[in-house]
Amino acid sequence: MARSSSLLYLDGVSVSFDGFKALNELSLTIAPGEMRAIIGPNGAGKTTMMDVITGKTRPDSGEVFFNGTVDLTGEDEASIAELGIGRKFQKPTVFESHTVWDNLELALKAPRGPFATLFHVISGGEKKRVEYLLDLIRLGSKRSELAANLSHGQKQWLEIGMLLAQDPKLLLVDEPAAGMTDAETAETAELLKDIANDHSVVVVEHDMVFVRSLGVKVTVLHEGSVLAEGSLDHVSADERVVEVYLGR
Ligand code: ADP
Repeated sequence: MARSSSLLYLDGVSVSFDGFKALNELSLTIAPGEMRAIIGPNGAGKTTMMDVITGKTRPDSGEVFFNGTVDLTGEDEASIAELGIGRKFQKPTVFESHTVWDNLELALKAPRGPFATLFHVISGGEKKRVEYLLDLIRLGSKRSELAANLSHGQKQWLEIGMLLAQDPKLLLVDEPAAGMTDAETAETAELLKDIANDHSVVVVEHDMVFVRSLGVKVTVLHEGSVLAEGSLDHVSADERVVEVYLGR
């Protein structure tokens, strides 16, 4: 895909830590409206890739473009968040002493990026948006519950809802199924599919059952670059992928 029609475009991105290449000329293109799963063994460079996209780590070389023409290379984290890239880290971070509703309301009122604690009366339109997000994240019946009382999986959904409140164009999600029950994992796949109707999503995930249930194109990272790309069946049949995962 041409850069001009892409949502996210990484071109030959390299990052070294003390001479070790965590990313080695990584090139990756995400189309507008696409959900992509990124897999790969530990140390493959998945986290470093997310860090580069969000501006946490500057690439030593290569370029990152957003929305075809916006050069993200070397931009800081706050500017990149402001442009509409939201990141969900593995561990849920919600305001435990606030209700589910208040968490969403706070996120809705905060500028993109780190959440502020602002209290002012929200408009009817904003209330509708919170209602919509509550339904989307499967927490409609938990609206008055303190976030502290939610299960681990529900906290993850709430944080996804908080990120969506800021209406990102691209949502990066790091191992959403980690630590979830089987039922929560299955529901999370459905939730991400719902989100992908309106947003582009990049999911880093280890759980192959979960990746299969997403049913999206998969990119396999290995030693900081793309080893294989395609459907999960396609990449699973690739000898090189089997070798990397099974050490054969
Ligand atoms: P993954 O998320 O796929 O497990 P990472 O991106 O975390 O991979 O790491 C890729 C490689 O870079 C690993 O070998 C890791 O040890 C190394 N690495 C990552 N971050 C740093 C850092 N801040 N300093 C030194 N080495 C790092």
